[in-house]
Order: sequence, then structure tokens, then C-alpha cells
Amino acid sequence: MANVIDGNIVSARILAEIAADVQALKREKGIVPGLAVVLVGDNPASQSYVRGKNKAAHKVGIDSRQHTLAADISQAKLLELIGQLNADPAVHGILVQLPLPEGLDEEGAVAAILPEKDADGLHPVNFGRLLRGEEGIRPCTPLGIQKLLVHAGVSIPGSHVVVVGRSNLVGKPIAAMLAMKGPEADATVTMCHSRTRDLAAYTRQADILIAAIGRPGMIGADMVREGAVVIDVGINRVTDPGSPKGYRIVGDVDFERVAPKCAAITPVPGGVGAMTVTMLLSNTLLAAQRMSRVTSA
Ligand code: NDP
Repeated sequence: MANVIDGNIVSARILAEIAADVQALKREKGIVPGLAVVLVGDNPASQSYVRGKNKAAHKVGIDSRQHTLAADISQAKLLELIGQLNADPAVHGILVQLPLPEGLDEEGAVAAILPEKDADGLHPVNFGRLLRGEEGIRPCTPLGIQKLLVHAGVSIPGSHVVVVGRSNLVGKPIAAMLAMKGPEADATVTMCHSRTRDLAAYTRQADILIAAIGRPGMIGADMVREGAVVIDVGINRVTDPGSPKGYRIVGDVDFERVAPKCAAITPVPGGVGAMTVTMLLSNTLLAAQRMSRVTSA
């Protein structure tokens, strides 16, 4: 059986490091990292995500504050709030919880955040910095994938990584992050998508296979090379009359059949998903550390 990479364990280890670094920043520079979470409307899923983020932030000593706006707020008012948070020296990270209610421009809202405070790492400037191999803030889910690989002892340099999916949220940035120069990267990357001909011919060549598709169990055992490392990003709800909620969450990989073939694999839930909020906190700390260097220089 493959080594199952436990995202909760890796995440707990990184959270302990973040908490220690938050304390050090407070002790040495008198700075408490501040995170502003902007929630527009009353979407229950978004409310629950925001609660989770606030709770996780407080646990590591980050001062997280929620800013709630009505669903019918204008784009101008939303941008006004983002402008105030940009100017507030106690705020080091800003995130706008997506999706926004209909009528609001998500890309415009994300682009209004100061790139240095872009805790989600989704700002176009940070995307450009990533592609150019420059220092910036990296998007949370791809960063979580990279940290999982590193913590699981997977050697990335020189390996062939096949990414299935090319979204701006996951596929494209993880492909760019693992292809760039560096000890936690330097991979040869192939990116596949819905128009790829003979997908299995590519996935079978992967030393590290990353599935970010959004299709339950699509990656079967015949698509994976013996001894590969498999990272399952997918979060899919499938009907399950046997479970109390009537559904359960599964990944993009047929875990039962694929796991026996590979060297290591992430489960769903408890794999990549467990890392995303941790990376948000890591980005907030990083932003505060960088700003403290600028202020004390
Ligand atoms: P998108 O729908 O934006 O992108 C899906 C990608 O998969 C597209 O590039 C699409 O190709 C490709 N694709 C779809 N069908 C096929 C197919 N049959 N063969 C090959 N490629 C295909 O999704 P996201 O990237 O936002 O998310 C992907 C999954 O990851 C989802 O399940 C999502 O819920 C999950 N997710 C998990 C996170 C976590 O924290 N663990 C965070 C973010 C997402 P094309 O471009 O041609 O349409």
C-alpha cells in the first residue's frame, strides 16, 4: 500500500512553525500580523469558510478581522473598503472571500488589493511575479501542494510532473511553481486539460501526477505509473444515501484502485484541502515579515 500523505499532520507541523514565527515577530519588532477577511453577502458556505479562516488565524496569533458587507453592496463601496484596508498599517494580508454575489466584479476586487497584501496570492501582479520567477505571494492551494511534496520527502528536481487541469486557481500556478528554478521545484512539467488527446499516455509518464480536474474518481489505476506520487486536488460532492448528509466528498482520483500502485498519495478529504488555510496564514505572516523589513530598513 502506498504511503498516504496526511495533510492534517503536515498542516499541524507548519501551523506550529507559523505560531512560533508570529511570536518572534511580535517579540522582536512589536508587530502582530493582521489579516482582513472581506465577506460579501450571506452565502452559508462562504460564511463557514470565513469562520474557519478566522479561527485558524487566531490559533496561531494572527489578528484576523472580518469585514461583512451586504449582498447588494456596490462595487464602488467594496473597492472603498479594500482601499481602506490597503492603507491600514495594521493589516498585512487581505482576502476577499469568493465567489462574490452576482453583479460584483471578482477580478476587479482582487486586483484592487495591494499585491503585497494579497494573502490568497491571486492578484495578477503576483501571478506575473510567479511566471517570472520573482519574489511574490504564491496562491494557497498550489503552495500547499508544493509543501506537501516537500514534507513527504518527495524529491521534485528533475522529476516529470504531469498536471491535469489548467485553471488560474490551481493548474496553471502549480505547473509554473514546480517548473521554476529552485530546490523545491526544477521539475519538467506537462500540463494537460480537457482538449488533451490520449490523456492517459501523459499521466502514465508522470513521476508526480497532480489531478486538479473537478471530476470524481476520473484518474483510474490504468492512468498511473507504478511507483508514482499522486496528488489529488479534487473536491467533489457525490450522492451517498448511506451517509447522514446524503453525500460524501471524493477526489479526482480513484483512491482505492490507485493507492496500491503508487509510492505516495494524498487522500480526499485530509490531503491538499487541509493545507489551503494553513498557506493563507503562512502568506499573511510572510507579508508581515516583508513589510517589517521595509519599515525597519
Ligand atoms: P476548474 O473547473 O477551473 O478547472 C478544471 C480543469 O480540469 C480545466 O483546466 C479543465 O480543462 C480540466 N478538465 C476538465 N475535464 C477534463 C477531462 N475530462 N480531462 C482532462 N482535463 C479536464 O477547476 P479548479 O482548478 O478550480 O478546481 C479543480 C478541482 O480542485 C475541483 O474539484 C475543486 O473543487 C478542487 N479545488 C480544491 C482546492 C483545495 O483546497 N483542495 C482548492 C481549489 C480547487 P479545460 O481548461 O480545457 O476546461
